[in-house]
Amino acid sequence: MLTVQHLTKTYGETIQYQALKEINLTIEDGEFVGIMGPSGSGKSTLLNLLATIDQPTSGEVLLNGQNPNRLNPEQIAQFRRRELGFVFQSFNLMPTLTVEENIILPLTLDGEKVSVMKQKLKEIAPRLGIETLLKKRIAEISGGQAQRVAVARAMIHQPNLLLADEPTGNLDTKSSKDVMGLLRQLNEEEKATIMMVTHDPLAASYCKRIVFIKDGQLIHEISRQTSQKHFYDEIMVELSRIEGVDNEF
Ligand code: ADP
Ligand code: MG
Repeated sequence: MLTVQHLTKTYGETIQYQALKEINLTIEDGEFVGIMGPSGSGKSTLLNLLATIDQPTSGEVLLNGQNPNRLNPEQIAQFRRRELGFVFQSFNLMPTLTVEENIILPLTLDGEKVSVMKQKLKEIAPRLGIETLLKKRIAEISGGQAQRVAVARAMIHQPNLLLADEPTGNLDTKSSKDVMGLLRQLNEEEKATIMMVTHDPLAASYCKRIVFIKDGQLIHEISRQTSQKHFYDEIMVELSRIEGVDNEF
């Protein structure tokens, strides 16, 4: 479903910084992959390249055989709306619109019928515990609530690939577990492919595979073999190994 070949990103003109170096990565349909690594290791850069928000310096991204960087701007916009769902740290919600308006925005852009949108919203809102918030404006709700709204918006069009950057970053433990449980449900029941950047080992333990990145390079990966608890312990061991080197977490 997703193949990344020799992906390299260099920022800057006079002072150059290589944020990603020759990344090779394949994600199969239905996978739930976590990306972990120290601050500044290139996690968000990788996600932004996959999200077609940014262009690689060299190398290729192929999503279902399509290279989004070769599409024209209109095709890219449509590709993003139909194929991708995003949950970013900054939420990217419209503060003056209501929760309901924010969630159905991707469907509105694709000209979906109002009755279909309302039905989808009815299904999704209780699963995220936001049914009482639908008429409120984003400016009137908490950060944790806003993150759940962002997840709802990313999920409502049942994207093929859900990209999430620290989706539990602003949530307490209980809300984090709720959101991660939902992502897992989306992955298992709706076969959505999910790629998530996270610092949080608990959130990461919901994934099936974790790829560790450091200094713009993939350094290691582990897959869940048995229980979630065991996977959590394995993730902690890997993090302390990486942390032990430069203590950047
Ligand atoms: P992470 O998400 O792992 O914390 P990022 O992908 O955000 O890391 O950043 C990787 C490196 O690239 C960092 O050193 C960061 O300062 C640099 N970087 C990120 N975005 C830009 C940009 N727009 N211009 C210049 N440097 C950037
Ligand atoms: Mg980041």
